[in-house]
Amino acid sequence: MRLDDFAREVSRGALSRLATGPAALDELAVQCRRLAPTGERVLLIDSVGKSAEGRDLVAWVSELVGEVRQVIVRARHAQVTLDEAPIESAVAAVGSPALIISLGSGTITDLGKVISARCGAPLVAVQTAASVNGFSDPLSVLVIGGAKRTKPSTWPAALFIDDRLIDAAPAFLNRSGVGDAIAIWSAPADWYLACRLGLDGPFLDEAVRPVLEAVDALADPDAAVARNALIESLTVGGLVIGVADSTAPLSGSEHLTSHILDMAAMARGAEHDLHGAQVGAATVVCTALWHEVRATCRVFDVPWAELRYPDDFEERVRETWAALDPSGALGQECWTAVARKVARWNAADRSECDRNRADVLERLFGYVGDPVRAAGTLRHWGAAVRFSELNPPVSRDALLWSLRALPYMRDRLTLPDLLVMTGEWTDELIERVLARA
Ligand SMILES: [Zn+2]
Repeated sequence: MRLDDFAREVSRGALSRLATGPAALDELAVQCRRLAPTGERVLLIDSVGKSAEGRDLVAWVSELVGEVRQVIVRARHAQVTLDEAPIESAVAAVGSPALIISLGSGTITDLGKVISARCGAPLVAVQTAASVNGFSDPLSVLVIGGAKRTKPSTWPAALFIDDRLIDAAPAFLNRSGVGDAIAIWSAPADWYLACRLGLDGPFLDEAVRPVLEAVDALADPDAAVARNALIESLTVGGLVIGVADSTAPLSGSEHLTSHILDMAAMARGAEHDLHGAQVGAATVVCTALWHEVRATCRVFDVPWAELRYPDDFEERVRETWAALDPSGALGQECWTAVARKVARWNAADRSECDRNRADVLERLFGYVGDPVRAAGTLRHWGAAVRFSELNPPVSRDALLWSLRALPYMRDRLTLPDLLVMTGEWTDELIERVLARA
């Protein structure tokens, strides 16, 4: 199916035009007129200059769509962070126009969706890099009480992904997109596990398969083929979130690792690398985790019906986050989320899963990717494979801390949850996983 048709189907018409290809932007004026024939148009941008084909992108877009009022979002750090204050000031600055056009990568698009949901004006998103899969979905990644959370916002009414713009994007942004795309070799296994164990579901292979197919050509020696595979992986990735009505098909332990690294850096007032760059390195570690656990741990052999979260689980959650926020507020935010997972675990019936263990494991490991292939794909694009190659590098201690914290952050069950229950989520196992990775 063509991407554009798939987008309309999944969004039930809300994403009414997904324009891709070598000259997608040429259609911008027509789509803006269709969505808002009259009235004020706001152009939402950040303060980083962007160009393609030797032209300034703000000037290019303005030339195509006519008069626009610019709203420039300024970053306090190297990147714009979407916590409460910048969102409120951007909502106020945009006001109530007839149309919002966002020109930027993930954060500006996420902000555009939030503002569009708040003020009701349709959003036309012009994607300036293939940096994350969050463009073609109705969600935004926000920072709430210091914790990274993915929240419903709204679909863009139209999305433009023009090859000329993507090819002109800074290489580190597209490399980051490769990291986000290969999460498909890690996340579906966590989702499958959670669904089979009765904590989520239903599991939908059709929400995973199109992305698995799209990432196949990511390391193609022909740069244009690889670029198209990157755009398709990320765009289809956003759309399958709509199919599943959840980020779970694309967000398992590898995304948790990235979110926790962000939270730790924010708490220290330090910089962190891009979402996808971290997810890519984490995918190498998390695929290695599945293989290491299968080879050396008891967790796949013990009866799951009898497993329970440890008695001191709440204490562990609060203690973990007290290291970042001594006030306990972050610990409270995380425990509220984690407690939902514990309640669902205690209520779920796992006997079917125990009876059909061989089938569960066979299907489960059908979704676990190869860490060597993950590393090779990242290398092909020049992306970071190891956490020490991130910018800024993540120290071994910080990485160990973040991995240890995996079961303590949100309401989604992933493999480390089971390992906490069997007492196997130890520094020794984590060290073995890192050695394997
Ligand atoms: Zn992601």
